[in-house]
Amino acid sequence: MNCDICGNGLRGGIEALKGAQSGGKTLVRLFADPDRNWIECSGCSRIVCSDCCDHPDTGLCDACLEQSGLFEELQFVENCSLDELEEFMHGKRKGMGDEPSATCEG
Ligand SMILES: [Zn+2]
Ligand SMILES: [Zn+2]
Repeated sequence: MNCDICGNGLRGGIEALKGAQSGGKTLVRLFADPDRNWIECSGCSRIVCSDCCDHPDTGLCDACLEQSGLFEELQFVENCSLDELEEFMHGKRKGMGDEPSATCEG
């Protein structure tokens, strides 16, 4: 597997361990490898290594992060004081509550 942007080889990932139980059931457990150096962007589904992605913790590649507007928020959150951050989170929650619910029936 390689990065979609720079083509570098990727390491780590999610491993599935299979173990048979005495009852005849097969138990599959998934482990997220803490060493993995890539994400699968939840916006465009590209595989992007952490070298090509400034904020892998968001689960988005740089391009999608910019598009989503999250990037500016992230910059703000990284640079603001705790008081500002609390105000920001408060306002955000309030704003979200005011939005009309978009349910579609039929
Ligand atoms: Zn890359
Ligand atoms: Zn993306």
